Amino acid sequence: MATSGPPWDSQRIHELVKEEFGQRPLVLVSNREPYEHRQTPQGVRVDRPIGGLTGALDPVLQATGGTWVAWGSGSADRETADELGRVAVPPERPAYTLRRIFLTPQEVDGFYYGYANRALWPLCHLLIERAQFSRGAWRHYAAVNRRFAEAVLEEMQDASPAVWFQDYHLALCPALVREARPQALLAHFWHIPWPPPDIFRVCPQRRELLEGLLGNDLIGLQTEDYVRNFLACVEAELGLDADVEAGTVAIGRRMVSVCAFPISIDAAWFARAAAAPSTVRLVRRLRQHYGLEGVAVGLGVDRLDYTKGIRERLQALDLFFSKYPEYRGRFTFIQIAVPSRTRIEAYRRLRGEIEALIEEINARYGEAGWRPIHYLAQGVRQAVLVAYYQLADLVVVSSLMDGMNLVAKEYVTSRPDGQGVLLLSELAGVSRELHGSVPINPFDIEGLADALARALTMDSEERRERMRAMRAQVQARNIYEWMARTLLDLGKVARAPRG
Ligand code: UDP
Repeated sequence: MATSGPPWDSQRIHELVKEEFGQRPLVLVSNREPYEHRQTPQGVRVDRPIGGLTGALDPVLQATGGTWVAWGSGSADRETADELGRVAVPPERPAYTLRRIFLTPQEVDGFYYGYANRALWPLCHLLIERAQFSRGAWRHYAAVNRRFAEAVLEEMQDASPAVWFQDYHLALCPALVREARPQALLAHFWHIPWPPPDIFRVCPQRRELLEGLLGNDLIGLQTEDYVRNFLACVEAELGLDADVEAGTVAIGRRMVSVCAFPISIDAAWFARAAAAPSTVRLVRRLRQHYGLEGVAVGLGVDRLDYTKGIRERLQALDLFFSKYPEYRGRFTFIQIAVPSRTRIEAYRRLRGEIEALIEEINARYGEAGWRPIHYLAQGVRQAVLVAYYQLADLVVVSSLMDGMNLVAKEYVTSRPDGQGVLLLSELAGVSRELHGSVPINPFDIEGLADALARALTMDSEERRERMRAMRAQVQARNIYEWMARTLLDLGKVARAPRG
């Protein structure tokens, strides 16, 4: 089976899994769970956490069936699962099994906040001065990885499933599973950037992390640059020979492939949502709510994270209103900022800084009946987000460093009218794919302010042409195509003679 042909959808993935893996079930492993049961005054509620990864993978697993192993983070997760932590999901139409792992507050602190998010997250985003490597946190990280590996081994039972690990929380898991099951078929997708060797060297546990990941048969990264970085780290730290051209590392007789698989979105869902009459009504209501008649609209949609360049974007807006005063009263920016990792001081501080900056800008330029920046300090459902995307004459993605950035892909897919301009950081992985965007460098504040002015004066023909190119890209390379490429490569491994 090849990745060409009609656009990939869940049905084609289902066929591909049958063809490539026959009786092998799929086991997906991630930190975040796709369905969280929460205790509320009205009883138990099921939530789908906001965020790129789980939202993107749930439709895929619904199509293929199998098991998803994840941290059971919801307050009613235990009571809604069986004694092994298993529950059938989606609750209204069960399609696969969710196997939950329950963590103590100390484990969450050390594994999730401590090592994954205070050490690995800044390290991989090249922000080494923010990285904190505590040995206590590392011990929790290693212990929780062991618990994940044990659960995976239990779920594998006597079958030989294809196991697919997700992200930087689980770097040690693959080697632990490999040790117990040498013939296992293991893949890993690393959603965030991979740093070059000079940065990676800062990490005291760098060799353990690499050895853990090399337990896989296949490692996926977002871009070719990250693949090169990863292979360079393997050579520098472990002294192994990597074939950069082929993207392989030989470990004895076992071969590990390292490839770029840029992640994507369910493009058909966004296109449908964009065309829904309820979205059209919502756009109208939002325009009224924010008082945007006759006003051009800019939009930013981010988790409140220091890698997203929200501060730089606001500084550029400040300069924009001062350098281009003709836009006062004629352009409004809406910033949706989803609170994130609030138990980490750096994230709380960032929120305070951003809110103060917005207040300052609004006080400096605001006029009766017009506010330069509207700020929404909460997440909205994607069905609502689509209406915001349609409202926006431009979207700014100004990440200082970003593995991919799905917001950029969602925006272009939500604009079947071909209108709207995407200002896109050259430092986001997605910029390698979306060539119709207006490139920006968030470290060049004046350049970003000028790009805003340029976007607002771009003629409709150019906007349409740029949008058309970007939409075609995302439609062809959607989330199912991303999955197909990984599974096809893993299928090749499954058929090859094993060392
Ligand atoms: N998102 C959402 N509601 C919001 C803001 C964001 O559902 O109010 C989703 C958005 O649709 C996207 C994801 O959160 O799928 C953010 O993914 P991205 O890759 O842009 O950044 P990440 O948060 O994964 O770093």
